Amino acid sequence: MADDKKTLTTGFGMPVDNDLDSMTAGPKGPVLVEDAHLFEKLAHFDRERIPERVVHAKGAGAHGYFEVSRDVTKHTRAKFLSEVGKKTEVFVRFSTVGGERGSADSERDPRGFAVKFYTEEGNYDMVGNNTPVFFIRDPLKFPDFIHTQKRNPATNLKDPDMFWDFLSLTPESIHQVTILFSDRGTPRSYRNMNGHSSHTYMWYNAKGEYCWIKYHFKTEQGIRNFDGPEADRMRGIDPDVTTRDLFQAIARGEHPAWRVEVQIMTPEQAKDYRFDPFDVTKVWPHADVPPVVIGRMVLDRNPENYFAEVEQAAFSPGNFVPGIGPSPDKMLQGRLFSYHDTHRHRLGPNYHLLPINAPKAAPMESYQRDGAMRFDGNGGGGPNYWPNSFGGPAPDAGFALPAIDVAGTAARHAYTLGDVDFVQAGALYRKVMTDTDREHLVANIVGHLKGAQKRIQLRQTALFTKADAEYGWRVAKGLGLDGDEVKRLAAMSQEDRVKATAA
Ligand code: NDP
Repeated sequence: MADDKKTLTTGFGMPVDNDLDSMTAGPKGPVLVEDAHLFEKLAHFDRERIPERVVHAKGAGAHGYFEVSRDVTKHTRAKFLSEVGKKTEVFVRFSTVGGERGSADSERDPRGFAVKFYTEEGNYDMVGNNTPVFFIRDPLKFPDFIHTQKRNPATNLKDPDMFWDFLSLTPESIHQVTILFSDRGTPRSYRNMNGHSSHTYMWYNAKGEYCWIKYHFKTEQGIRNFDGPEADRMRGIDPDVTTRDLFQAIARGEHPAWRVEVQIMTPEQAKDYRFDPFDVTKVWPHADVPPVVIGRMVLDRNPENYFAEVEQAAFSPGNFVPGIGPSPDKMLQGRLFSYHDTHRHRLGPNYHLLPINAPKAAPMESYQRDGAMRFDGNGGGGPNYWPNSFGGPAPDAGFALPAIDVAGTAARHAYTLGDVDFVQAGALYRKVMTDTDREHLVANIVGHLKGAQKRIQLRQTALFTKADAEYGWRVAKGLGLDGDEVKRLAAMSQEDRVKATAA
């Protein structure tokens, strides 16, 4: 027998004599309960699936590194950013958002772009998307929004009425809708798309001086998208096209890379900025806040086991390291809670101990104890409370976030919809998109919106008109709507428009 030949065992390490024939009473007889191996095998199999993520269920991931290329120490004390040339190990997970775990990769959807930096000060997660903005800016709307992107409760089918009803009643979504229905809503591969933090974050230096920043990961492979018909076809030809592409490219030694940029805004600039700089439905125009390159991210290693490394990977925008903190962005504030919470549901309270989620370059010295599946030493015999005088780990006030002024009346403050909410969608359509981009955008919208009721088509097309008159006119034409009626609706307040298009 060769030395490396392994004997099959049960999950508890007992050798197994036969893994093909169940133990039965006679050759044709019923199965015996004493076949512990059979029942252990079936019982474990029955429990193989964990709850899929309620959003971002279908994804692919890879390992790699981030390397600093610019001195940013005057802005942040983060150690992983402290030196030009410094490298930090990362794990990245890309995903679609609305589809189930088996759904097609070429669905029109934003793409998740989540990066875990294993730094010496703990794990830092940048949990972004391939779009620089989002549909909504208040987390209270998030569960409703996601319901409309998923399946109708009666038919269990995707439903254009739900989809467009919500969006047309949520006009701040217009910017993200315009990006989503451009060909950037169907990237050809995960390698060929950008990543954005979308949110604003705080960076602060060793002196406690802070600034506001946004991250952009720019693909070195170039942007490449499917157009609408190609994406439709690809759903049938290869539903796993982007998952396959990422794995195979890395296996071939083609390691995708992104240029990492930040936009930096001073607190003084933010105070008097012409719109709320923490509103995630808006970008910071480059002319106001030019991006600077701070480093490069490379993915060079595939996971060895999808479940262990990709399915169990758990990211949270609440995982910060000293030098980086949150901003008052309301959507971000909601996410700070929600991500950890969903992982506790999906993976259990000790999910941070799983190898893919545990800090690799920093010690973990907390007083958290017990809970389901606590599989490390659980703190051994050391103290499990703070304060203690038995040498347990102590908090260090030197790591405090800078104090920022927060004041105001406690109430449910609504964002007032203003014309400023339509400006950036209009600029994207007019100034950034090419003729082909605009043509595809209109065709992609018409192909989807035509499935909704006419009154919803009218309400949504009025929003496109508010972003840009030609944009709205072309969508109206494609849908066969009365252009004058759309213009009349576009001139109304949102409240009147909703009344005029009520069921
Ligand atoms: P700029 O001309 O300086 O930047 C335009 C940006 O748009 C570039 O970052 C470009 O970078 C990106 N872009 C190009 N084509 C598309 C597309 N079809 N869909 C989405 N993004 C695209 O202008 P501004 O900074 O003044 O922004 C103008 C508009 O550009 C914004 O209203 C916004 O819609 C969009 N945009 C702006 C970003 C920002 O951070 N300022 C970031 C991304 C988009 P790339 O091709 O590398 O993505």
